[in-house]
Amino acid sequence: MTKITVVGSLSMDLVVSASKRPLAGETVIGTNLSLFPGGKGANQAVAAARLGADVTMVGCVGDDAYGEMIVANLASQQVDTSLVKRFTNQTSGTAHITVAEGDNSIIVIKGANDCVSASLIEEARATIAASDIVLTQYEIPLPMIAYLADVCESEGTPLLVNPAPAATVAPETLAKFSYLTPNESEAALIFGQQSRADSFGAFPGELLITLGADGVCFKETTVPAFKVAVTDTTGAGDTFNGAFAVGLAEGQSLAEAVRFGNAAAALSVQKLGAQSGMPTRAAVEELLAK
Ligand code: AMP
Repeated sequence: MTKITVVGSLSMDLVVSASKRPLAGETVIGTNLSLFPGGKGANQAVAAARLGADVTMVGCVGDDAYGEMIVANLASQQVDTSLVKRFTNQTSGTAHITVAEGDNSIIVIKGANDCVSASLIEEARATIAASDIVLTQYEIPLPMIAYLADVCESEGTPLLVNPAPAATVAPETLAKFSYLTPNESEAALIFGQQSRADSFGAFPGELLITLGADGVCFKETTVPAFKVAVTDTTGAGDTFNGAFAVGLAEGQSLAEAVRFGNAAAALSVQKLGAQSGMPTRAAVEELLAK
């Protein structure tokens, strides 16, 4: 079994629907509240675990009820949670989402995700060393991304970085990433408004730019997305990254791993929700065989 370590965020999404959003000082009676476990780190861990990888999550939650629910959810998806730390006097990461008038407005509280520290990454060092690949995103403190890149480099474990939400890191940190998977707007922030060819030239590892319904481009190739009827694209990028990591960890070529990621993401956009739409291995293989 291939081994993947995800160092990243865990959160609870609290989704409120209402016929209108409140103005300043106003109270509105909403229609529904739904809770969905999320966080890019946890989402990508679940995507990879569903596809058959042995996944360990490294991250932090608070000592609130959400923290318990987040950890229980990951465990139910066969993700190893022994390196998910529960911090006292901290709240778990939450996203407060209002769905009203056909639009979302979102407030994110990072909470315990900001507690990811060098000492936690050191605690995970042996697990990282024993992994086929490490996966991370930008929802933990950026200095910890730099620290993780050093640990992966010294342990000889490839590091796949999904630079979301968009941010920049020092060039010497960027140079330590084995794979980088921005979408187009993240790529524009990281590499400036230069041409795609120049962006590829500016990154020494493998740069893969995800293009939504247009697929993924890397080097001089574009691997098209699978043509499907879209229900909800929430979590498409997380599904792509989790699946792409599985493909790489299994020794697939870059093009094969991208196609594997595209297939998993295409299945996820046909269902509602992020984690709830993530496909099984059998479903991805069926799509790839078509
Ligand atoms: P994005 O983060 O929007 O670039 O999407 C990540 C990946 O999800 C893409 O590279 C595709 O593989 C897949 N994807 C996103 N949107 C669609 C879509 N409408 N149809 C099929 N695949 C999609």
